[in-house]
Amino acid sequence: MDEVIFDTGAFIAGLENFFSLVFTTQLVIEEIKDIRSSTNLELGLSANKIVILTPSKEGVAKIQDTCKRIGEFSLSDADISIAALALDFNNSLVFTDDYSLQNILKIFKIRFNPVRMFGIKDARRFEYVCNSCKKRFSEPIKRCKVCGGHVRKKPLLTVSDRP
Ligand SMILES: [Zn+2]
Repeated sequence: MDEVIFDTGAFIAGLENFFSLVFTTQLVIEEIKDIRSSTNLELGLSANKIVILTPSKEGVAKIQDTCKRIGEFSLSDADISIAALALDFNNSLVFTDDYSLQNILKIFKIRFNPVRMFGIKDARRFEYVCNSCKKRFSEPIKRCKVCGGHVRKKPLLTVSDRP
């Protein structure tokens, strides 16, 4: 089982909807709060679906040392925290579009997926579910055709659908 780790971009793309459990760091959460409405984020955090962890000091030091060694100075503290957290796990899968972060992950042989490609490829895979009678629709509608209840958009994708 992969430990799925999100950088800021993954949350901005709303990718947490596709996973049942996502790990990240406090620095990333703070970045997101500056950028987008945090309603979904709060929901995810309160449901323990989004789990905030602190990377080990050793992990952070390893990442920082490697950045220095290869002359990579464009990583933010949030990026470094994500790489360090990924290093702490055995089977990390990091979602990020940041090339500098991807580069560091490659060095440590940590797997990653680009957010943007993932998002574009699967963006249309939604269904529309009535909150009241739970009827499902494939087309985007706001009101349920059966009972008139509020319909919400729901991603169809599950982790096992990933390429
Ligand atoms: Zn309905």
